[in-house]
Amino acid sequence: MLPTPTPDQLSEPFWAALAERRVLVQECPACGRRRFPRLPSCPYCAAEGGTDVEVPGTGTVYSFVRMHRALTPAMADEVPYSIATVDLDGGGRIFARVEPAEAVEIGLAVVPVFVDHEGWTELRFAPA
Ligand SMILES: [Zn+2]
Repeated sequence: MLPTPTPDQLSEPFWAALAERRVLVQECPACGRRRFPRLPSCPYCAAEGGTDVEVPGTGTVYSFVRMHRALTPAMADEVPYSIATVDLDGGGRIFARVEPAEAVEIGLAVVPVFVDHEGWTELRFAPA
């Protein structure tokens, strides 16, 4: 069984949105840059606060790793899998699995895929 996220005060809106098939990133009230994960202040200009912005969830692979060995027994049935850094259309950079694992490459256009698990929804990507 996959490890289960533990939403906290900051991350809960992100997880709740995924369950509704929506992708949220945070936008800085001062510089306007978008960020993930949700943070109490901007990592670029240090302004406090941020506004949740819904994005289409489409984007482009910036980088990726492909896992061939399970780091924990829970992931033994999952290998090989690929985790990508995706630059979202509209701003923000996010990390998630891309399926199929062998399809991922830098520059690949991707679309969001919402995978429901017991009690939570995972964001993954697939080739556009
Ligand atoms: Zn900022």
